[in-house]
Amino acid sequence: MSKRIETKTILAVTAIIVIVGGLIFKKRKQEEAEGCVFLLLFCSVVFCSLLPLLTLNATTFSVKITLPVWAIQSYDSYQAREYKTDEDCMALAIELSARNMQKGTGGPFGAAIFERSSDGTLSLYAIGTNRVTELNNSTLHGEMMAIQFAQKKRNNYTLKAQDGFPKYELFTSCSPCIQCLGACFWSGISRLVCGATKDDAEAIGFDEGPVFEASYEHLRETGIQTQFECLREQANKVLQDYAKSGVIYNP
Ligand SMILES: [Zn+2]
Repeated sequence: MSKRIETKTILAVTAIIVIVGGLIFKKRKQEEAEGCVFLLLFCSVVFCSLLPLLTLNATTFSVKITLPVWAIQSYDSYQAREYKTDEDCMALAIELSARNMQKGTGGPFGAAIFERSSDGTLSLYAIGTNRVTELNNSTLHGEMMAIQFAQKKRNNYTLKAQDGFPKYELFTSCSPCIQCLGACFWSGISRLVCGATKDDAEAIGFDEGPVFEASYEHLRETGIQTQFECLREQANKVLQDYAKSGVIYNP
């Protein structure tokens, strides 16, 4: 909220208080009226003191990050599916990327984090879709969204379990850019599985930044398994479709 709107609000509230105070003063006995006017003045001071805090916190100093409505509405059905193989999990990440493109709610990228229990079973834990263009936020890539929602759900800054399980595996429809690779490093995931490649994304004009094999080697040394080109053809098809009319944004 701008300072201009904020000032207008304060003036409007003050005017209302003065008018109401005046009416009370006119209709009541003087002693009662004085009490009411004093209360009104006290409330107005408190309100005016808190207003900048309330409005600025709601806008300037906070960021609201949301999944698209269609993704929220579909989440229960995604969660009800059976996920047994890498292909099952990747199919969801690709489906998210395709629907995000079709619905016009961001770039052609999707990601999903699965929880692997000690007996090996997989269940969907969080999803993410690229929200860069719709929320005007260059950091909101699919992987970043999925990681943030997973950590919020787990109420922890890391997805790494103290005793090894459950493990969290991130499936992304396209190999991560430099930002998301860094986020994977910090996130506490145990495994990263990618669909389309860096070359596929860059072939349609995106710049994934300085991501090198040595970067992945470092991830593996810290215990994060990596796998590439899972359902690459299907994942790349979404990128190719997007390239026909979608916005290609870059640093
Ligand atoms: Zn990224």
